[in-house]
Amino acid sequence: MVRFRQVTKRYGNLTVLDSLDLDVAEGEMVTIIGPSGSGKTTVLRMLMTLETINEGVIYVDGKPLTHMPRNGGLVPADNRYLRKMRANIGMCFQHFNLFPHMTAIENCMEGPVHVLGLPKREARERSEELLEMVGMADKRDQHPSRLSGGQQQRVAIARALAMRPKVMLFDEVTSALDPEVIGEVTNVIRKLVGEHNLTMLMVTHQMGFAKDISDRVCFFFGGRIEEQGKPADLFGNPQRERTQQFLSAVK
Ligand code: ATP
Repeated sequence: MVRFRQVTKRYGNLTVLDSLDLDVAEGEMVTIIGPSGSGKTTVLRMLMTLETINEGVIYVDGKPLTHMPRNGGLVPADNRYLRKMRANIGMCFQHFNLFPHMTAIENCMEGPVHVLGLPKREARERSEELLEMVGMADKRDQHPSRLSGGQQQRVAIARALAMRPKVMLFDEVTSALDPEVIGEVTNVIRKLVGEHNLTMLMVTHQMGFAKDISDRVCFFFGGRIEEQGKPADLFGNPQRERTQQFLSAVK
């Protein structure tokens, strides 16, 4: 569903992603862990097309994301193509970025109505279902300022899902939350993994959560995958010295 082929991203002299190859299969939950600055968030930003890449190609659902087909080859994607492809991808960030002047349900309906062109009634039904799924149905008419961080994050997840993305990205979604509400959000993600065949890519510093929830864990170092594997193998029996060092430092 997601393929990075030899993707390089540089900021000036700094190489943040270094000829990265990364595959995420349909329905797979892949977690990215690694030290600060290793390029974890950059992977997600590339998928959101928030940045251009310097080399390589990213594919989503079999189609190039960063490039578009032209005359039998690939050329850099234009804005129209990017907008179309971006609709396949949903993202939740550390800071929820809900629209402050809209209620929970209006936040969820905004994209389906204005980007997908869904009739309001249909967008409302879809949003109600999703708010129910994340346990926020009773707060649907509240504005974000009246909601706790955990509640806002659950609305943000419902809002991203309302666009019916093929791929969901989670970037440190629990790191701005108070410890007592982290479970509310991780349980929603757990539910998505259990009940929906959604392809997911998550960056987290919560090793316990990564271990519980992932089909595969990728340890990033210096913009490359240093080691990857099933959580039990990577956490239980890491092969590379850098992985061992990182895991013993974060324990
Ligand atoms: P963390 O765990 O601290 O969030 P990360 O692994 O997610 O780190 P990235 O956010 O992907 O790291 O950043 C990788 C590197 O790229 C860092 O050294 C960062 O300073 C640099 N970087 C990120 N965005 C920019 C930018 N817009 N301009 C210049 N450098 C950037």
